[in-house]
Amino acid sequence: MTTLLPTSIVGSLPKPSWLAQPETLWSPWKLEGDALTEGKQDALRIAVHEQRRAGIHVISDGEQTRQHFVTTFIEHLSGVDFEQRETVRIRNRYDASVPTVVGAVGREKPVFVDDAAFLRTQTDQPIKWALPGPMTMIDTLYDRHYKSREKLAWEFATILNQEARELEAAGVDIIQFDEPAFNVFFDDVRDWGVATLERAAEGLRAETVVHICYGYGIKANTDWKATLGSEWRQYEQTFPLLQRSAIDVVSLESHHSHVPMELVELIRGKKVMLGAIDVASTMIETPEEVADTIRKALAYVDAGDLVPSTNCGMAPLPRDVALGKLAALSAGARIVRDELDPPAG
Ligand SMILES: [Zn+2]
Repeated sequence: MTTLLPTSIVGSLPKPSWLAQPETLWSPWKLEGDALTEGKQDALRIAVHEQRRAGIHVISDGEQTRQHFVTTFIEHLSGVDFEQRETVRIRNRYDASVPTVVGAVGREKPVFVDDAAFLRTQTDQPIKWALPGPMTMIDTLYDRHYKSREKLAWEFATILNQEARELEAAGVDIIQFDEPAFNVFFDDVRDWGVATLERAAEGLRAETVVHICYGYGIKANTDWKATLGSEWRQYEQTFPLLQRSAIDVVSLESHHSHVPMELVELIRGKKVMLGAIDVASTMIETPEEVADTIRKALAYVDAGDLVPSTNCGMAPLPRDVALGKLAALSAGARIVRDELDPPAG
């Protein structure tokens, strides 16, 4: 891409109220059957339209066809029983009732490929598609079959690679793996987390992203963040590993977080999707605040490698707030772009 500081969002946007309950995570669908299929596509069209209207460069589906960023993928796999549920701790943070792995996991048919092909028909701009990462997938399940987190992660990595290759063939330019679990299980990240992620991304021509964040602005996450102290240094453990990995882009949380900006230096040479929009607050950033975050990052990342973005998904936000944040992201990036490369005349 030739644009300096191309903008992108991490993932989700709020869903229209006729499709799912607004300002609610993982909200059930309000439609069913063919009406649901059509409703999801209409919502995706709106998500594309709003990103383009705001001047966002890399277009995502806003996760309009998904209820949950991990579960919706797992629902399409064999070997997982959604009736047998167990309560587990998610990312060592909150309890949730999760499905059980009861046999060999497999992907009998594509999961998001039709949705991605539809997104491709909606814009000529580069498109990005997000998948859960292997470690985050196993953390959302109870495993009765493999009885090994690592073994199950390798199985999921193979499945994700099949899906990613088909997404690429459907015209997806950038494939993102969401690995919030990388901010929690540091020994696993070192021992097999990065390796399984690379397996998921193996052989792709599409650009590959890993998104590591501190989560949506829900209470379990904000309570956890309150325990992390005045400096969030979790990235310090994973970034050196990712710097040496085959993954092209690292998506990280920055604005309003307590992540010291100098940690970005640890991934020098990689592209950086910099979170310049706080998704845990309904206050809309000013373009100048966004520009300020971008300027600070430029001390640690080459301008040609910087992609201004959001900290995480915006699904739980009111729609007008999310749209305001999209516009602020775009306007803030434009300020710095013009400083770096003043418009002629
Ligand atoms: Zn996130």
